[in-house]
Amino acid sequence: MKIVRFAAEGRVKYGVLHGDKVQTLRGTPFRGIRLTGEAYSLDSVSLMAPCQPSKIVAIGLNYRTHAQELKMPLPAAPLIFLKPPTAVIGPEECIIYPAASSRVDYEAELAVVIGKAARHVSTTNALSYVLGYTCCNDVTARDLQSQDGQWTRSKSFDTFAPTGPCIETELDAANVSVASYLNGERKQQGSTSDLIYSVPDLISFVSGIMTLLPGDVIATGTPVGVGPMFPGDTIEIRIDGIGTLRNYVTKDRS
Ligand code: MG
Repeated sequence: MKIVRFAAEGRVKYGVLHGDKVQTLRGTPFRGIRLTGEAYSLDSVSLMAPCQPSKIVAIGLNYRTHAQELKMPLPAAPLIFLKPPTAVIGPEECIIYPAASSRVDYEAELAVVIGKAARHVSTTNALSYVLGYTCCNDVTARDLQSQDGQWTRSKSFDTFAPTGPCIETELDAANVSVASYLNGERKQQGSTSDLIYSVPDLISFVSGIMTLLPGDVIATGTPVGVGPMFPGDTIEIRIDGIGTLRNYVTKDRS
């Protein structure tokens, strides 16, 4: 099942995709899937980010080949950082290139969407806390990341967390292809089978530190091949079984 969040007739709703139709859900998908009976054609609605996380917990250096390209040592435990909810944008929205940076990179990542509050969860039970999976672009001002040492500024600009286009509830996250395409050209291609820390490992680890709430997102790390984007570029994150998250890079006009 593919869950979407969308705007139609001036309101924001959740729905379930069925071919080119969106069937509206009653309330949110976090308390069970209940259809209202109302439906829209997909091309008549605007898809939004499929959830509104209280936090995005992102994982650094979770693919060996990516750690090698950044010349960083492999972490001895999952390396986590936070991206703020204000960084989230949805499909087809613009990533604003901040004036403070001259090197802004894409990072294709499988994102876990939490379905119910999770605290001190074991790896064995971890997947029962998952609503589903979506695509995330962990946009990073690479120059500021190395300049600052810690990562908050480089990862947290408004628009730096494109998310979507849907939450797929039936994905086997242990082995899916994660790719990025810049202006139609493939730049990254990895498989979650190469993750150093798996999805259950990450849920267990993070929930031992902070309570994960419904709608929270864990971005599981990016494979090798990160690189720069510039205003005017189109960036796509494609994950088998989920779909394509497309965004456009624009200049900061503020
Ligand atoms: Mg990342």
